[in-house]
Amino acid sequence: MNARALAAAVLCAVLLQQGGAVAVQSDDEGRIRTLLAGVERALRANDRSAFLGLLAPAADATRAQNFTTLEFRPGATRAAVIERDRQQLSGSLPGLGHRVLVDVFVEYGDRARIASWQLDIKRIDGVEWRVADEERISTVENLYRLSVNPGRQFRARNFTVRSEDLELRLVDGVVFTVDTDQGVTGLVMSGRGEMHFEPAAETEKGQVRIFAGDTKIETRFDAAFVRVGELSLHANQDELVAVPIEPRELRRAEEIFRVESGKSYALELGDLTSENWSLAPVAGDFVAEVRTSRFDTLTYVRSRNEPEDISVFNRRRGRNIAVYPSLERLATRGPFYNEDDSAVYDVLDYDIDLAATPTPDRQWLEGRATLRLKVVAASTSQLSLRLADSLMVHSVVSEQYGRLFSLRVRNQNTVLVNLPYTLLRDAELTVTIAYSGRLAPQPPERETVAAQPPLPRTQEPPNRMMMEVNVPTGERSYLYSSRNNWYPQPPVSDYATARIRITLPAGLACVATGEMEGPPVMVPSQAGAAPRRRFEFVASRPVRYLAFIASRFARADRVTVAFDAGAPAEDGRGTTPFASTAPAITGAVFDTMTLTVEANPLQVPRGRQLINEAADIARFYDSLIGDAPYESFTLALVEHLLPGGHSPAYFAALNQPLPNTPLRWQSDPVNFEGFPEFFLAHEMAHQWWGQAVGWRNYHEQWLSEGFSQYFAALYAEHRYGNEVFGEMLRQLRKWAIDRSDQGPVYLGYRLGHIRNQPTVFRALVYNKGAAVLHMLRRLVGDDAFLRGLRRFYVGARFTKVGTEDFRAAMEAESGRPLDRFFQRWIYSATLPKMTFTSRVEAGGDGRQEVVLHFAQEGDIFDIPVSMTLQYTDRHVQNVLVPITDRTAEIRVPLTGTLRNVVFNADDGALVEIKRN
Ligand SMILES: [Zn+2]
Repeated sequence: MNARALAAAVLCAVLLQQGGAVAVQSDDEGRIRTLLAGVERALRANDRSAFLGLLAPAADATRAQNFTTLEFRPGATRAAVIERDRQQLSGSLPGLGHRVLVDVFVEYGDRARIASWQLDIKRIDGVEWRVADEERISTVENLYRLSVNPGRQFRARNFTVRSEDLELRLVDGVVFTVDTDQGVTGLVMSGRGEMHFEPAAETEKGQVRIFAGDTKIETRFDAAFVRVGELSLHANQDELVAVPIEPRELRRAEEIFRVESGKSYALELGDLTSENWSLAPVAGDFVAEVRTSRFDTLTYVRSRNEPEDISVFNRRRGRNIAVYPSLERLATRGPFYNEDDSAVYDVLDYDIDLAATPTPDRQWLEGRATLRLKVVAASTSQLSLRLADSLMVHSVVSEQYGRLFSLRVRNQNTVLVNLPYTLLRDAELTVTIAYSGRLAPQPPERETVAAQPPLPRTQEPPNRMMMEVNVPTGERSYLYSSRNNWYPQPPVSDYATARIRITLPAGLACVATGEMEGPPVMVPSQAGAAPRRRFEFVASRPVRYLAFIASRFARADRVTVAFDAGAPAEDGRGTTPFASTAPAITGAVFDTMTLTVEANPLQVPRGRQLINEAADIARFYDSLIGDAPYESFTLALVEHLLPGGHSPAYFAALNQPLPNTPLRWQSDPVNFEGFPEFFLAHEMAHQWWGQAVGWRNYHEQWLSEGFSQYFAALYAEHRYGNEVFGEMLRQLRKWAIDRSDQGPVYLGYRLGHIRNQPTVFRALVYNKGAAVLHMLRRLVGDDAFLRGLRRFYVGARFTKVGTEDFRAAMEAESGRPLDRFFQRWIYSATLPKMTFTSRVEAGGDGRQEVVLHFAQEGDIFDIPVSMTLQYTDRHVQNVLVPITDRTAEIRVPLTGTLRNVVFNADDGALVEIKRN
């Protein structure tokens, strides 16, 4: 499941951060409590003079009056003032003055607001506490306590609620409204309804077909809850006829409301109130929870904040069915987008101190992360950070602005930090977040092959089916990376430098993003506890995200790999696939890389073998690109039931399957016979593709996986020659053709997502992506291809880019338009339909020629096809035919007696011939 896409649809469920509770013991504490209770009473009664009566003699009364004008309002029905944080007041002696941060919650009937205040309090005459100064830090206005309006019931006949591509028609039923002082904010519909959803785009139709068996969702529903910013945009209320209240119908509506309304816009406010409060959607926003007869409850969301502002999903199963831009969004931003376009700030640097006990009995993290940020939006007064829900935020402190007020957004791994001032573009600030909590390591997935059940062999083995088997799992390792939000980070990945200190139980070691700085140091522990070891890592080049893996590691080996800039790798073992005149990279280029292998104890000998292989791979990739993006690379060999790996910047964790593993994975798209270093080569390629060159949204993931897959294939070609390379091409092609009907490469994680088929994802994003690169190389030639790769890499290094950037680089170096090439192979799912005929006839000079004739039906593809002429004397002749039109015909003079013509003998083209 893509957390971001789903989270976006969930909209907002905010949980107020429960700050460090202050123990109340002494009399003095009691008196401070009394003061805050007095503030609470004054607020509740809107009694400004009562508040002024709490002031210290030296307090600024005018300032206090202005404060009450802003913060005290008539009509309050309940108020709560809760202390969150306390520091000594500067200029006061210890115990005589505090700066107190309080959260304030005030209800006005079914409306409420939250504010965060900073109160300076002083002890007067050694006894009583008074307010010396007061300031509002931030507010959240317009919270609503929603309920079904019990005074209005409507009869509906063909009452229709619409949003783009969606129609909910209540053929015969009952409607209740959910009202605020702003009008109708929700509808509860029950009775006999019909849901119709049909996206306009072909790709989305294809995904709906995978889900529903048809390009549209047509189903009955018996209940729906709809939440709207502006009802008149979606329905005509005049179609409803008021009828007398039926208690049974009202109870049913209230039950539907109780279950469905909390799923979006819902706030949970911790100790401020136990009741359910809700934010108001803005005009144009729309959410429908539809209880269908065929598909469980389906959720449709239109959300203005998202670049793809329409989505339909099954919330319970965590499956996105359709996610795409509305027509309006498409018209304003065009077909492509960069997720960074909506970024509010840019992280420049991280400094993280983390104490981790990742073992299963604890899984405990305690961290302090300092982020240096720069505002990139025009202005902002709030920062949104991603952090795992289970990690409690203890404090957020800014170097520039002191303590900051923060809210937790529940179920979305999000912390909202309110700023005391609106910051403008280019403003820089530093915030330190202290946090702790239980957090499990993330499971290895995606990059690990799928286990297959023994027999019978089903087409799509469930990924985790065999993991239940009770077998020795080897040395445990604990991975914290991009998927479990172990440190505060921006909502989307963002290049930054970093320094990370990780303290672990003494038995564990770790590998992390960055070059290890010095040996680990023993850290004295508190009374009686076991000693711990601290590791420090520095990422001096920008990285997309931070990661570490902890396990029992021993150093297997370390070497310095020397690069010969621009020169092809030369070790005499294999062939160099390219003869290129491509220019070398300009700018800072490393001419060496420190290569280290850390391994689980039993894997140390294997590690010593692998380091030479890894060095060879690094030299080879550097020779292709002319750069290595990071100055060090550590390979962490960990034991696992299945082969696979994970590659953040600066390191890769590589699974070493145990010899006694009972699992089979031979028919996985990324299992390549005859190429034992496949995973090592793939994971190392990610240092260039995926890490140094980032993808700008989920659609572009093939720039990471397809490229790493193709680089691994190129290494196979270099290391083992054409036979192994040919075998890889065969497998890339087989999987790509087999699964192309599941959607275009451009769907990224959504390939195979609806039915939870990770092999579909790998078959298309990895294998088809790589096969497309091979066809592109064939089409433009080795030299232009390598030049294009380098141009793309140089322009993209340490940024997030898309297919269009790659196309531009390749067009510039090849001098030919490639829009149709990428349109067919990346943005759409179809495959070419081709017929081929050949005949032998006399040429102009009377010599025998073979005429090869190709014809495409349907969409025209640009597709280079290798043709093999087999002669009776057993010699063969290879001819590459670039087919870029409806028909193509070439004549090849024969060099003997022709026995046979083999179409696409090297499997380099993604096409299956239609025999005529
Ligand atoms: Zn990968």
